[in-house]
This record gives sequence, C-alpha cells and structure tokens, in this order.
Amino acid sequence: MIDFTIPEDAKAVRNKVREFVRSECHPAEEVCTAENFDEVLAGLRAKARAEGLWCPFVPVEHGGMGLGPLANALVQMELGESFLGALSMNTQGPDDATMLTLLEHGTDDQREQYLKPLLNGEKRICYSMTEKAAGADATGMQTTAVLEGDEWVLNGEKWFSSSASVADIAVVMAKTDPDAPRHEQYSTFIVELPNPGYEIVRNIETMQPHTDLGLKLGGSHSEINIENLRVPRDAILGGRGQGFNMGQHRLAYGRLRHGMHNVSMAQRALDLAAEQVVNRTTFGKRLADRQGVRWMLADCAAEIYKARLMLLHIAYKAEHGMDLRQENGIAKVFLANMVHQVVDTALQLHGALGYSHDTPLARWYTGIRSQRLVDGPDEVHRWRTGASVIKAFEEHGTTAGACGGELFD
Ligand SMILES: Cc1cc2nc3c(=O)[nH]c(=O)nc-3n(C[C@H](O)[C@H](O)[C@H](O)COP(=O)(O)OP(=O)(O)OC[C@H]3O[C@@H](n4cnc5c(N)ncnc54)[C@H](O)[C@@H]3O)c2cc1C
Repeated sequence: MIDFTIPEDAKAVRNKVREFVRSECHPAEEVCTAENFDEVLAGLRAKARAEGLWCPFVPVEHGGMGLGPLANALVQMELGESFLGALSMNTQGPDDATMLTLLEHGTDDQREQYLKPLLNGEKRICYSMTEKAAGADATGMQTTAVLEGDEWVLNGEKWFSSSASVADIAVVMAKTDPDAPRHEQYSTFIVELPNPGYEIVRNIETMQPHTDLGLKLGGSHSEINIENLRVPRDAILGGRGQGFNMGQHRLAYGRLRHGMHNVSMAQRALDLAAEQVVNRTTFGKRLADRQGVRWMLADCAAEIYKARLMLLHIAYKAEHGMDLRQENGIAKVFLANMVHQVVDTALQLHGALGYSHDTPLARWYTGIRSQRLVDGPDEVHRWRTGASVIKAFEEHGTTAGACGGELFD
C-alpha cells in the first residue's frame, strides 16, 4: 500500500527549493558562461547554504539537510529544472552517489580526508568502472590491482569516466582477487588526482558536443589509461572484494536521482511546449486548437503523471525500508524514456526553433539520450524485471507482485 499524504515539512522544503530554483537558478542560467561559471556557482552556493539548502540527503551531522527518501525525492524533482539546480545545492552526479558510498562504507580517515571536502563543495569526484572491455556486465572488467609491499599497483584502462577532467579524486574499480567468486573479485580504490598512473587519454566526443560551459559544468566523459598506478594499501574503500557490491549500492541511488531530475526537466519542456502552441498560429488557427497537438500534449501529461506516481511509491517504500529493487528497475527505464518522449515532443512542436539552441530543448535532447545507456542499459533492466515477473508467477501463481499489485494489499 501507499500513503499519498505528503508531510507539511516535506512540502515546505520542496516549496523552498522550487522558489530557489526559479528565483536564483533560472536568472543565473541566463548569464552563466564558461568564463564566469566559477563565480556564478559560488554565488548560488553561498545563497543556497545561507538558506539551509545543501546536500539534501546527507545527515545533518555531516553538514547536509538530513532529508529522508520522500523529502529528498520531492527536492530532487525540482532541481532538474535548471542545469544549475543540483550543482547549486551540491547534489549533482556523479559526486552525490559517491558521497553516499563514502558515508556508508568509508573509514573515519577516509571520511575526514575525502568526504569532508566533497560535502563542502571544495572537491569533485569521478567514478571509473566501465572499460572498453566491459560495461553492462561489469564483472568482465580487466583492470588489475596487485599488492606490492604497502602499495597497490593498478594496470588497465577505463572509459566514460564522467567528470574525470574536473575531478580531484577518482574512485576506481579493479580486480584484486581473480580466483574468488565472480562478484567478489573486485575492489574499489580511492585515488587522489592528478596522478601520473591515471592518465586522461582524451575527453570523448559524444552526440552532445563539447562546449566550454559544458566542460566547466561537469567536465567530460574521459578515456583513462591506468599504468602502474600506485595507491597506499589502505586506499581500498569498503573492503577487499567488495567493489562490485559497492558499485551496485552506488548505482542504486544514481538511477533514482537521474529519474527524479527528469520529472522537472520534462515538466519544463511541457511548459515550453504549451507556451509555444498557444502563441503559434499556422493555417489560420493556433496550434493549441488542433486536436492532434492536444493529443501530443495529453500523452506527455500522462507520462509525467506516471513518473511522479512511480517516484512517490518508490520513496514510500524507501521510507519504510521495503525492498524496491523491482520498482527501481522499472522506474529507471520508464523515467529515461519518459523524458526522452516529452522533450522530443516539445522540440517537435517548436519546429526549427526547437532544433536550434535558442531554447534549451536541443541541448536536453542530446544530453538525455545517454540515460537509456548509463547505470545499466534499458535492455539489462528489462531483462531483470522480466525475470522477476516470471519468478513472481512461479512462486505465487500471479505476476501481480512484480507490477505494483501490492499497492492494493
Ligand atoms: C554519458 C555516459 C556517461 C557515463 N558515465 C560513466 C561513469 O561516470 N563511470 C562509469 O564507470 N561508466 C560510465 N558510463 C558507462 C555506462 O555505465 C555504460 O555505457 C553502460 O554500463 C553500458 O555498457 P557498454 O557501453 O559497455 O555497453 P555493452 O555492455 O557493450 O552493451 C551494449 C548493448 O547491448 C545490449 N545488452 C547488453 N547486455 C544485455 C542483456 N543482458 N540483455 C539484452 N541486451 C543487452 C544493450 O542494448 C546495451 O546497450 C557512462 C556512459 C555514458 C554514455
């Protein structure tokens, strides 16, 4: 079951964040360039912190807002509206998920040395798991780590390490125990950057072309050569052989956060579409008065509505410590496709204007395509979701438990 009542304190913080994004982030977007980015972000962050808007899900004792899953979901659903939203409150990916990992698995020393500056917004971190050799099936990673005296020596390659070019710290996965069971062969290492053993070969050109501002915002997705990368023996995060499990832990939040941001991006795209169709006349009628156009808007509204309900249900389950793996997998795929459909429709309704960079739609369109690949491609999640459907049927004689049937229990 689910209780749809949103507590007043969660509503209040959501409203405060919404107001901050609209009154501070939107105007800042208008003036933000690669040249003044550091200054604009510092100004926004100072204002956000002064209003108590900082690291939403991080416990209060670590300097965050200490929000639970529901309040955090409501806040994140506002932040995706602006490319400065999450950054202004220091809750941007990929840093945020790694903050969680450090909070949960870091030693006291690791928290002091690496987590503190991340939480203060003084440093950035990247996550190097994917290799050319292995992505969707991370257990195929080839990078090795061998213990030599008091140091681990890593060799291999990584690619699509997001934000590596702006990161001060890298979290790198490597094979430490080739003879262990498949999911216990890898460990996670904390690497301070720059490091001669962790060489950025290139920032990969993707379907979202590099811009000076984009490189400042989140860096790029980098190809990395790892050659005799030496780190101290205690640079392992979360225990030897635990890298794979920790990766899954980290990705679980990241998956949801992308989807939460998608809701407000899609909402803003639909608002832009509505503004366009009430103002644009073709063949003697407003676009808004065409049945076909209304159907397009209606389909978008239905997608956004479903997205909100899914996230509320998942937040409810998280609040109550319930198993949400099935819903997480379904929502991850749905939310990536939902935002794609809504932004595509808004772009279409803007005609050539939508294809131009005079609205944010074209940039969003190329940016969000990656969401059907990152944190597990659609097909892998659907493969696992399908397996749960079969399992539910085999165990209970009905698939209801795998598709929200428990909502009515
Ligand atoms: C913009 C972007 C940012 C990224 N950032 C990071 C990062 O910061 N750190 C990091 O470590 N990685 C990052 N990645 C990598 C990302 O996690 C991988 O691209 C993803 O896991 C897929 O791996 P792959 O690209 O090697 O695809 P592959 O593993 O080669 O899979 C290719 C395709 O095969 C299909 N497929 C695979 N397995 C199955 C299956 N079991 N059933 C059916 N179909 C299947 C899917 O269609 C899939 O898209 C990023 C990727 C992108 C595009």
